[in-house]
Amino acid sequence: MPSHLKICQVGSPVLRQSARALSIDEIRSARIQHLIEQMRDTMHDAPGVGLAAPQIGETLQLVVIEDRADMLADVDPALLTERDRNPVPFQVIINPQLTITDTTPVTFFEGCLSVAGMHALVPRAAAVTVECLNERGDPVTIRARGWHARILQHEIDHLHGTLCTDIMEPRSLTTTDNYFRYWNYKNIDEIAEILDLQKT
Ligand code: ZN
Repeated sequence: MPSHLKICQVGSPVLRQSARALSIDEIRSARIQHLIEQMRDTMHDAPGVGLAAPQIGETLQLVVIEDRADMLADVDPALLTERDRNPVPFQVIINPQLTITDTTPVTFFEGCLSVAGMHALVPRAAAVTVECLNERGDPVTIRARGWHARILQHEIDHLHGTLCTDIMEPRSLTTTDNYFRYWNYKNIDEIAEILDLQKT
């Protein structure tokens, strides 16, 4: 039976704390295995493509991500291509070390389950490598580009107490309603011109 956790909203002090690493024994414990299941259910229910443990009040270096093909089926294929967004299978990321492998800045609108109802343009590096442990405590290397790299940067920032609003283009902040009304279908050059981003 799915069990959904409460997602902490911006202003909760826990979102500003640094998360601690998990030991192999902890990873394999019933408590953490159950927490991973709960985080997966909570992410699906939200719905979201990633969830970090601090967002549910646990200052642990634990992230779940998944970009499901059935969620992408409703998105304009041109937007998926522009954003280099492809399905990502369910991944559990523990004690991650993130290395930027392509510093080219890529700017798109992002949302965060802890900043509910808002979107903003957020610059991210084009590609990253993440060294981490998986849900069994085995070492894993994830090499990612495009939207997958964006999700990893967003979620791993949560483990360091950083929110996407810390690094957003301030002039781009929008309610999610207005994001879908005015911005979702525009390409990034058009958006930058309308918002006059040179002013930031
Ligand atoms: Zn977030």
